[in-house]
Amino acid sequence: MNDCLFCKIVAGDIPSTKIYENDHVLAFLDIHPVNHGHTLVIPKEHFEDIYQIPNETLEKVTPVLKKMAVAVKRAVHAEGINLVQNNEKPAGQEVPHFHVHIIPRYNKDTYPSWEHGSYKDNEQQEVAEKIKNALD
Ligand code: AMP
Ligand code: ZN
Repeated sequence: MNDCLFCKIVAGDIPSTKIYENDHVLAFLDIHPVNHGHTLVIPKEHFEDIYQIPNETLEKVTPVLKKMAVAVKRAVHAEGINLVQNNEKPAGQEVPHFHVHIIPRYNKDTYPSWEHGSYKDNEQQEVAEKIKNALD
């Protein structure tokens, strides 16, 4: 077992709020959301970044990105959605396991400053349920 945070989430060794998964891809809530509903989509297999991920894996991730973007938008009534994918520290990558952020956006939000928020009480589970219910 490697020491990767997201591999541990895939394995269930670290808790996460999972929203969707298939054999190859997992979507779960970002623990420090820019806005509620901020979701991360990852391949279950460990690849560090865009340079390492094989095309065949990327092709498995892409349809899930679309599915999740639509569901997140519906669930939290986002006025827009950003897909963000950071590679290497200078570009803001903190977790070296390939991932794409699905970020709900609103006309008046603070995202460009990358101000991460938090969830309180049961909010995380409630948001996750809304997104699950919005899946096609
Ligand atoms: P990046 O900066 O692109 O590597 O993004 C890593 C993201 O992982 C950040 O937005 C963190 O908030 C998020 N994150 C870190 N630890 C966890 C965790 N245990 N569960 C869910 N998201 C996490
Ligand atoms: Zn990993």
